[in-house]
Amino acid sequence: MSSTSGDRTRSRAPSDAGVGTAMVVGGVGKGHAKTECACGKEGKHFSETALSTTFPSTPEKVYNLMFNSGWLKEFMSEDQKLKGESSFDAVLIRDIEQSDWKPSEETKNLTRGTSYIKPLNGSIGPKQTKCHIIDEQIHCDYDDYIVMLTTTRTPDVPSGGVFSVKTKTCLMWAGGSSTKVLVTTQVDWTGKSWVKGLSCVLI
Ligand SMILES: [Zn+2]
Repeated sequence: MSSTSGDRTRSRAPSDAGVGTAMVVGGVGKGHAKTECACGKEGKHFSETALSTTFPSTPEKVYNLMFNSGWLKEFMSEDQKLKGESSFDAVLIRDIEQSDWKPSEETKNLTRGTSYIKPLNGSIGPKQTKCHIIDEQIHCDYDDYIVMLTTTRTPDVPSGGVFSVKTKTCLMWAGGSSTKVLVTTQVDWTGKSWVKGLSCVLI
């Protein structure tokens, strides 16, 4: 997905994974009307756009590819390997554990937890961190649009306990039989432990 990904990563793009071809051929002139996610209409996307693109496939197929197949995990590992260049610490993401989808007790939305160990390339600080990811299905209507909220926590990096990275993935019909994929992100400072520490100092 990034511009540095190179040919090996591009070969794993959804359009090459046997997903969209039939839809494109059969979809001319009778495709689905364009749709727009509610968060888009209400201006509730996150501040940074990580990805905005269109795939020649349906939202359902893109969703399944991104969230219910091994493709993304493989993509992340391959991408990591490419970034590692020839250095000795070119370690792949490893120890991936993933739960099944189940309804959240709070929101009733389907959620899933994933954790893995990710190597870090910084000259200072830890050489790796555990990553905890929660995927939550905010809205899922294959005929309209799909919104997924992903929260990533990295407890082993400095101040890792007080922030998380929120990522919103919105899939909607882009006209014809294609799907617009919009991924927006922002850092969320939960700050609980920091605020707690500060209040101790002030009191
Ligand atoms: Zn949206």
